[in-house]
Amino acid sequence: MPDEKRLDLGKLRTKLKKHIESAVPGINIDYCLTCGLCASGCPATDIEGLDPRKFLRLLVLGQDEEILKTNWIYACTMCQRCKYACPMGIDVGRIVYEIRGMRPKEQRPKNLQRSCDLQKESNSTGIPNEDFVWVVGDVLQEVRNNEPGWANLAAPIDKAGAMYYLNQNAKEPTVEPEEMVPLWKILGAAGIDWTYSSKWWDGANYCLFTGDAMDWEMTVRRQAEVVDGLGCKYYINTE
Ligand code: SF4
Ligand code: SF4
Repeated sequence: MPDEKRLDLGKLRTKLKKHIESAVPGINIDYCLTCGLCASGCPATDIEGLDPRKFLRLLVLGQDEEILKTNWIYACTMCQRCKYACPMGIDVGRIVYEIRGMRPKEQRPKNLQRSCDLQKESNSTGIPNEDFVWVVGDVLQEVRNNEPGWANLAAPIDKAGAMYYLNQNAKEPTVEPEEMVPLWKILGAAGIDWTYSSKWWDGANYCLFTGDAMDWEMTVRRQAEVVDGLGCKYYINTE
């Protein structure tokens, strides 16, 4: 074959692929064998017409626009199952995370971005911290009054020096507060010394899923500062 007709593989190294290779330490997309093992166990296979193998092919073949606009990146759970199935150790979920972060905020799924934005203010549902404190106290009182054997149940908040810090899925105090009780009972029955906090108490971290590392880090740091401020030794993350 004449040289000028040969496929110039160098030209297939696209801008987006290069960006991913520089942003994700240790990743080498060219190692992909197109074997499809990743797709076989992926919960996002065939959603939005893609799977991790096809997604990687788009990247390798320079289909940057298609990659940047596909909503498949929000079907991917970033579970990393593909990474462990892949004979070459390629972490498609990590690539997806990077590409999510490249999408402008106004083009991301509204509920996801909204939850992250609210979380940066206080918690992902946006309820006032005073409401969280009130709901915990109200539910606790109801259990103490009405459930035999649980008159001394505890749900401490801001207890300095507690051994364990417990965070809370914000959905429960907001829409199904009785769902908090079983864990209180388990901790009480086990004699665990624990506490909630009255601020940054939300255990979810939606900013992990938007792809913005700074928002994600801010959320984690605020929670960690609360745990350290209370002097708790262990952090129980319910999410
Ligand atoms: S990280 Fe994404 S691509 Fe990989 S297996 Fe999980 S859902 Fe599929
Ligand atoms: S399992 Fe790995 S090598 Fe096989 S297609 Fe998926 S990413 Fe490529």
